[in-house]
Amino acid sequence: MAKILIIEDEKNLARFVQLELQHENYETVIENNGRKGLDEALNQNFDAILLDLMLPDLNGLEIARRVRQSKTTPIIMMTARDSVIDRVSGLDHGADDYIIKPFAIEELLARLRAVLRRVKIEKEVQSATVSKQQIVKFKDMTIETANRIVHRADGKVVDLTKREYNLLMTLIRNKNNVVSRDQLLNKIWGPESNIETNVVEVYVRYLRNKIDVPGKSSYIKTVRGTGYMVRDEDDEK
Ligand code: CA
Repeated sequence: MAKILIIEDEKNLARFVQLELQHENYETVIENNGRKGLDEALNQNFDAILLDLMLPDLNGLEIARRVRQSKTTPIIMMTARDSVIDRVSGLDHGADDYIIKPFAIEELLARLRAVLRRVKIEKEVQSATVSKQQIVKFKDMTIETANRIVHRADGKVVDLTKREYNLLMTLIRNKNNVVSRDQLLNKIWGPESNIETNVVEVYVRYLRNKIDVPGKSSYIKTVRGTGYMVRDEDDEK
């Protein structure tokens, strides 16, 4: 059941829209105040927001702009003013669609279905892209990214911890380039961490023990004094 936030200060209109949406099996929340509406929009996960333009405390354009800074929730602006400027600025501020008051409820429902359908398609495309990327091959090793499992060249299967996995993927993403200890620390432990750089060496050792095939040279080359790298081709040949 899709959950819709209605931010509208005309209480009768808000209630009317709510009843119609409930009748169509949507779950609904009403806020009559701009600031409360924004809080609700940011703190809960809605499938769509119906947003009035003129609101007490915070107007609809500002709400749309702030929601868009952190969320992709579709927004349909409901505005009594139908000047081109308002439509354009609503869309500029991150609204996905708009409807002019007074509107026929069927039109609102149709627009709502349209934005929800579009989000659903976008999500399907995204998850298809993600599942395609679930297998990463590097040389003779295969990595399942969803569960951080490595299939080694000798047939052994090993689990990586999140840090080991991030370390390996960072090196693979930068293959054929040296990644410094500081860059690795920054990426994997975060810029705020107060960890000694030798933790990188320790984790590289853990990772080598897991992914390298005994008797063969390591996938991860130490570049003395600088950092680490993985190469597409072996350089010993
Ligand atoms: Ca209003």
